[in-house]
Amino acid sequence: MKDSIDDNHSRRRPKMSEADQKGHTQAVFEAGGLQTLVETLARKGYQVIGPTVRDKAIVYAEMESAKDLPVGWTDVQDGGTYRLEKRKDDAYFGYVVGPHSWKQFLHPPKARLCQAKRKGDCFEPRGEDREIPKRAFLGVRACELAAIAVQDRVLLQGTYADPVYQARREKVALIAVNCTRAGGTCFCASMGTGPRVTSGYDIALTEVLEDGKHYFVAQAGTALGEEILKEIPHREAGEKKRKTAEGLVAQASGEMGCTLEAAGVHDLLMANLEHKRWDEVARRCLTCGNCTLVCPTCFCTTVEDSTDLTGEQAERWRRWDSCFTLDFSYIHGGSVRPSGRARYRQWMTHKLATWHDQFGTSGCVGCGRCITWCPVGIDITEEVRAIRETPVFQAAPSGKERNRANP
Ligand code: SF4
Ligand code: SF4
Repeated sequence: MKDSIDDNHSRRRPKMSEADQKGHTQAVFEAGGLQTLVETLARKGYQVIGPTVRDKAIVYAEMESAKDLPVGWTDVQDGGTYRLEKRKDDAYFGYVVGPHSWKQFLHPPKARLCQAKRKGDCFEPRGEDREIPKRAFLGVRACELAAIAVQDRVLLQGTYADPVYQARREKVALIAVNCTRAGGTCFCASMGTGPRVTSGYDIALTEVLEDGKHYFVAQAGTALGEEILKEIPHREAGEKKRKTAEGLVAQASGEMGCTLEAAGVHDLLMANLEHKRWDEVARRCLTCGNCTLVCPTCFCTTVEDSTDLTGEQAERWRRWDSCFTLDFSYIHGGSVRPSGRARYRQWMTHKLATWHDQFGTSGCVGCGRCITWCPVGIDITEEVRAIRETPVFQAAPSGKERNRANP
């Protein structure tokens, strides 16, 4: 079984083959051109969202200027640890991913699904007429594009498309950034999702700081990206500058703080559902659900109905839920996952194993957020390693895996 999400990249929107991308210009523009990029996006009617510093973390928020980016900051991450430090330069993108993901804008934490107002003895439904703004996401990393592709698969490409997600997704421009450093909990290289952006973007940027020079190598991925790039004063990227940019990304690939041996992980986990490691992790896990909230692919929700105190107005809201709560699996008089062991095992086996069965892709893109933001530092890569080193049952290749090996 191929346990990366490479296969899924072709499903992203906007879609463009590698051959098409070769037809697009590779440009170089000076660091100051980033401000022109922000202004161009705003002029085209986009609300620009990008990384900013808030409460000692890098989070995604609306920005008005390139100066709103975390200029000169970097992040230090490890299991249960996150802190910002000053860099020795003025890099705009010298950090990796923080606690926020783009999920909050495409699959919002709370969404009103419908409302109704009393009319006599009945309730009259009222339409949802809120305007969804056009948004440009600036600074989307390779693992995050992969996560958006996973959510596209789950929320758009099944039997029914989710209208809340679809309305937002259709209005998004994606300005990606190749990672030139890896974080202490990153493992996108293991999952085949990064650090190089390969598709699904309108523009991909690589930031270069060398010999006192500061510039971006830019690649358009769509006609929209090409149109935006034209507005930024640039020149065609020569081979030396392209090679320098590629070298920085390749270097990041070798600096991942974590690794996960993804090959065969589906069958390994499914063959070891009774492994004693699940008890060990359950002793540490607080079932707080942080890992699901920060994860860019987790999509589970619950629905709540409410009325106002006068009984005149009723509303139905959808909000994020987590498989770590007892209520999540409450069925007919009780929860079917009453223990922390059962809930952690459900989360991890869904991410790395049964997600493949459901959606044909991994549910994990290797962003490392669940490791950094777990208050007790539980590390999904360590948990896989522990089971792999002491399997109770050796995984026999599943039918699906055999078929893939011998099509
Ligand atoms: S693994 Fe960590 S973040 Fe996830 S529920 Fe357990 S304690 Fe919370
Ligand atoms: S499971 Fe953890 S590493 Fe994988 S995508 Fe979710 S938050 Fe990132």
